[in-house]
Amino acid sequence: MNNQLRTVVQAMPKAELHIHIEGSLEPELIFALAARNGVALPYASVEALRAAYAFTDLQSFLDIYYAGASVLLQEQDFYDMTAAYLKKAEADNVRHTEIFFDPQTHTARGVAMETVFNGIHRACQDSPVSATLIMCFLRHLSEEDALSTLEAATPYLDKIIGVGLDSSEVGHPPEKFARVFARCRELGLHLVAHAGEEGPPAYIESALDVLHVERIDHGVRVLEDAALTARVARERIALTVCPLSNTKLRVFDQMKDHNLVQLLDAGLVATVNSDDPAYFGGYMNDNFIATFEALPLTLAHARTLARNSFEASFLPAEQKQRFLAEVDAYFAAVPA
Ligand SMILES: [Zn+2]
Repeated sequence: MNNQLRTVVQAMPKAELHIHIEGSLEPELIFALAARNGVALPYASVEALRAAYAFTDLQSFLDIYYAGASVLLQEQDFYDMTAAYLKKAEADNVRHTEIFFDPQTHTARGVAMETVFNGIHRACQDSPVSATLIMCFLRHLSEEDALSTLEAATPYLDKIIGVGLDSSEVGHPPEKFARVFARCRELGLHLVAHAGEEGPPAYIESALDVLHVERIDHGVRVLEDAALTARVARERIALTVCPLSNTKLRVFDQMKDHNLVQLLDAGLVATVNSDDPAYFGGYMNDNFIATFEALPLTLAHARTLARNSFEASFLPAEQKQRFLAEVDAYFAAVPA
């Protein structure tokens, strides 16, 4: 990648649409919060914890992810975690972000729903970055658990724009959550789901047809099904792709094997996102640099990715247009 392209992908205005806030917890903050809350960690030091981030697949990552989240107890902890991510986003020229959070990870430990919502939401309001929230259901748990989570979240629904589905994909198809998604749809919430990361293209199809999601999180396996690829392109269903996550969890062995270029060239609304940046080796610009370094991505692809990120967002039309105009103005000033 030449220096100009590197500068462009770093400086261009962008939106992030796939970030789990609990996955932004850096080892340093995990230790600071553990000390503040008197929580004992099964790691001797920041270095020992970081060394444990040697996952081989989604499940081995999730095991350590839930251990890290155990230090989050007070509203201020959720605030500090979210504020730290938003600072990184701002530095990477992220103008808008739609943040996932997993209330079940916290309520199962006895943390009140109110504590989770208020801490994360207040940090979003205090940030110069436009930030909205998407509440995710953990798919390895039952649909009954998701339904009672939605019930418990009822007083706080004005603090979220939508719901999602995350955690262990294989063996937990989207249709397992048909009823809770139908209820969320009635409530007027936006709908997204992780599908086609480790799971098959059939999960993408059922996320669309059974859950009626508006975006697919990951979705990189869509290319295994030509008819589905054509449909997802035709319907402008966005894919929130997470390149560093995909290589860290061995969805692709190496970045040079990643299918981002093929997704874009197939006319799909693919975007670049960080997923769990503290665990997977980087934030937004780290993901852009890693992909542009390893793959034959061009200045035209950079502009498409920046535009896709805002187009695929759940921003009101007027704000979306304002950000898209900012992208166009930015690229108009880049020498061809
Ligand atoms: Zn994810």
